[in-house]
Amino acid sequence: MDGREYRQSPADRKKLDRLYECILCACCTTSRPSYWWKPEEFLGPAALLHAYRWIVDSRDEFTEPRLQALTEDRTRLYRCRTIKNCTATCPKSLNPADAINKMKNKHLFVSASRNG
Ligand code: SF4
Repeated sequence: MDGREYRQSPADRKKLDRLYECILCACCTTSRPSYWWKPEEFLGPAALLHAYRWIVDSRDEFTEPRLQALTEDRTRLYRCRTIKNCTATCPKSLNPADAINKMKNKHLFVSASRNG
């Protein structure tokens, strides 16, 4: 640790709500047919919600590499069809489907910005 503070505005901190509370129980992931069929390819809602927790964190400096790692094989992220079983089964009332959608939008925005 270099002792550096990573300050964050209250508005940016609020973006982490309903993400950091995840207890990694994997109820969401095991409720997903896409995960049953292709567990070696589709990452599943629990991993994707955690990925988004870092991608949306204003203090994080690795948004693009994280998005690139998630989309090298598009199945990892885009196999999600937004059926929302994951959100319905979460015992913490979190919304992995929403996190995945926001991450897809972020990926599309970053890709469009990169390509001019
Ligand atoms: S079901 Fe909810 S608490 Fe459990 S891993 Fe998924 S998002 Fe996290």
